[in-house]
Amino acid sequence: MNEVKARDREYIAGTYGRFDLEIVRGRGSLCYDENGREYIDMGSGIGVNVFGYSDPEWTAAVSEQLTKLQHTSNLYYTAPDSELAEKICLRTGMKKVFFCNSGAEANECAIKAARKYSAEKHGTTRCTILTLCSSFHGRTLTTLAATGQEKFHKLYAPLTPGFVSSSEIGEIERLAKIGALAGIMIECVQGEGGVNKLEPEFVSRLAAVCGSEDIPLIIDEVQTGNGRTGELYSYMHYGIKPDIFTTAKGLGGGLPIGACVLGDKVKDVFAPGDNGSTFGGNPAVCAGAVNILDRLTPEFIADVARKGEYLAEEFRSCPGVKSVSGLGLMIGVEPFGSAPDIVKKCLADGVLCLTAAGNKIRLLPPLNIPDDLLEKAAAVIKKNCEEAAV
Ligand code: PLP
Repeated sequence: MNEVKARDREYIAGTYGRFDLEIVRGRGSLCYDENGREYIDMGSGIGVNVFGYSDPEWTAAVSEQLTKLQHTSNLYYTAPDSELAEKICLRTGMKKVFFCNSGAEANECAIKAARKYSAEKHGTTRCTILTLCSSFHGRTLTTLAATGQEKFHKLYAPLTPGFVSSSEIGEIERLAKIGALAGIMIECVQGEGGVNKLEPEFVSRLAAVCGSEDIPLIIDEVQTGNGRTGELYSYMHYGIKPDIFTTAKGLGGGLPIGACVLGDKVKDVFAPGDNGSTFGGNPAVCAGAVNILDRLTPEFIADVARKGEYLAEEFRSCPGVKSVSGLGLMIGVEPFGSAPDIVKKCLADGVLCLTAAGNKIRLLPPLNIPDDLLEKAAAVIKKNCEEAAV
């Protein structure tokens, strides 16, 4: 074992089951280990590096900001966070943004916004947040409570109260109509839960009941956002508008950011002191995010959809594959063989992939991955799916 792995095992808390790979540098969709071996990255740091590793334009935007101002605290005004918030609002029709540092923190903010709106408008007893079965909303105790997967809850009781999970639309409508819910939070494509795309009919009914019962609809766009699914945000595929959406991961292009984006209904819910984050809206991170958002043009995003369709079709026609799910460049491949074993084989063949829900290979490549690398990676993954099926 090399020195880095030995030191990591000795001193890093044991929360991660790492692959046997040390990445030392990257460029675009490729990265390299300590021996100079090349890998095609089909995971992009779990949907973060939307323009790949060390993208020159993004690096220049961040570096230039670093030479001017790296941090001030939220006691003062700075340009990059207001510029980023304006861009997000103009692209989505939403009204205000709270910046923080991660997806979980953005979801915590969304839950606070929904609960406060509901408490002020409908009384403090209307406080339950409903999420879907198989959802994933983060690792803090509150976002774990929101996560509709028992396996994440074990041994962390008591979790934050006031959460319920259901995927039965009739039951959700019933709970909404008896005035039990302060918010409904969904991922339009569940990432960790298995790359499950929600049905349009289900999403329309949810949106309708949220509208009629004055329940803030929260869309978690942490993994699906920022062009990933072939729309700027995944809810745009469904012709609905959330009251709140959260995003993180890809927005920062590789630096930590979270954003809770508030629509008309809740735009004025927060007053000074209601929420905060020391690093939220950090100038260098936001300068990078402005660069990312500016480059997620409609033409670029349409090309993400094209690449996603190509990739999904490759797997649909592969004999080693049972099913294919997802949207855009967020793809779940269910192989006949073991997904974790196939992912290990792909790594050995120079292609980095992710898993989801134990039985799926999850692909979240950089959004600007060149076609030839996509083809090469698809060929390796297909070969390993086929070999694992026999
Ligand atoms: N929500 C969704 C849909 C996610 O996929 C994730 C992370 O994978 C989170 C929230 C939590 O984000 P973070 O790890 O940035 O806290």
